[in-house]
Amino acid sequence: MSLIYKSTRNNNETATASEAILRGLAGQGGLYVPTEIPRLETPFKDLSAMSYQEVAYEVMKLFLTDFTEEELKHCINNAYDKKFDTDHIAELVKKGDAWFLELFHGATIAFKDMALSILPYLLTTSAKKNKVSNEIVILTATSGDTGKAALAGFADVPGTKIIVFYPKHGVSPIQEKQMVTQRGANTYVIGIEGNFDDAQTGVKKMFSDPDLAREMAEAGYQFSSANSINVGRLVPQVVYYVYSYAQLLKEGQIAEGDPVNVVVPTGNFGNILAAYYAKQMGIPFARLICASNENKVLFDFFRTGCYDRNRDFILTSSPSMDILISSNLERLIYQTAGRDADLNNKLMQELSQKGSYTVTDQMRSQMEVFYGNYGSEEDTAEAIRTMYRECGYVMDTHTAVADSVYKKYVAETGDKTITVIASTASPFKFTRSVMNAIDPAYDSKGDFELIDELSRISGVKVPQAIEDIRSAPVLHDTVCPTEDMAVHVKKILGID
Ligand SMILES: *Cc1c(COP(=O)(O)O)cnc(C)c1O
Repeated sequence: MSLIYKSTRNNNETATASEAILRGLAGQGGLYVPTEIPRLETPFKDLSAMSYQEVAYEVMKLFLTDFTEEELKHCINNAYDKKFDTDHIAELVKKGDAWFLELFHGATIAFKDMALSILPYLLTTSAKKNKVSNEIVILTATSGDTGKAALAGFADVPGTKIIVFYPKHGVSPIQEKQMVTQRGANTYVIGIEGNFDDAQTGVKKMFSDPDLAREMAEAGYQFSSANSINVGRLVPQVVYYVYSYAQLLKEGQIAEGDPVNVVVPTGNFGNILAAYYAKQMGIPFARLICASNENKVLFDFFRTGCYDRNRDFILTSSPSMDILISSNLERLIYQTAGRDADLNNKLMQELSQKGSYTVTDQMRSQMEVFYGNYGSEEDTAEAIRTMYRECGYVMDTHTAVADSVYKKYVAETGDKTITVIASTASPFKFTRSVMNAIDPAYDSKGDFELIDELSRISGVKVPQAIEDIRSAPVLHDTVCPTEDMAVHVKKILGID
């Protein structure tokens, strides 16, 4: 049976999985959504005996129905290999009261690797299937982690170029160093004088500019997206939620059918949406706990039903969650609106025109599986400090936001259901914030001195991704105002 994808903004626009992956974004700024979430028929007993790659195949074949078994296995096996520093690809470890699903064992030590190590294979396979001869230009806005993971995934992939825009003053020093030292003749990295939302809006604008699309086509190019709006990002993210449930079963921590709660540190709502899809596939997840930092637009949304981006953008120690427009929420809005593109479109127009919209009570009632809360900067630092003191385990700032929200959730509800916390980055990616949380006296030390100290106190070897940038030369130093993003893209492609 083949699964069809539809645009959230146009009831008549459909695509196969490979077309949706190729295009990235649907017309008029819409996102592609499968017309239904497939049920996972593989018995849990079998899943719990499978490797990560095998689980990936069981899950992904249901979403990417126009890929052959051979194509999909080729993608999976090339993505989830020795680039990861553990054979399990994702590790599940118990610390304190919760299970941490470590999603940072890939090449760039953030969870974005889970999807971006496979996206280039999905995309080039999709291009082949659809007989696309244009060169594919990956246009990406990043709050820090997507950029590096996408660059690493697409560097020197034939038939592609990748252009990454990041907020010049809105990422951690290590995140920036990782990006600007990227090698590969097809990689371009540009800092913008604006925040992540500005970068994302600028990229979306280029995607929906028909004149630019025409000029691109004439020069033999077409855009695609490596952002989490691409279904080629979303689908691979469903895999690790299924895998985590299967691993808990395997370890005898739960019996088949037992409920499990999931906590996800959230920015663009992509990661937690994948957990929601896993639940709809039949994984017995109970509550999906959406953890925000001080940019708590989602907390307010789940509390009131009103999404309101009219507020100050706060730079926090968890920069990958410094987002006021959570793009993937649109997929939930569309679904709870009964897959009515017109109603969704009306709400999204309100968001772009007045910066806010309110969902109906009927829609809200379908969102009750989500619980939202947020961690302040102080909550986050305290979570890191406490976890280190009690368990000797060092969390990154994003994971710490999730941990602090988990504690609030338990205090509020008394719900002691087994809980998996998505651990989205290695602490080595946010060393200064992490070490300052443990002891403010660390602040006087240099970046790499701190890295060695973190390794010492945590007993964790410095990841290769960090070793790689110690002495790497800066290869990208372009900075531009937000308005000039398209000018730079044209210059890179030689179409100005
Ligand atoms: C991207 C990112 C997030 C947020 O994920 P979304 O899918 O955007 O909600 C959280 N933590 C880290 C470390 C990230 O890189």
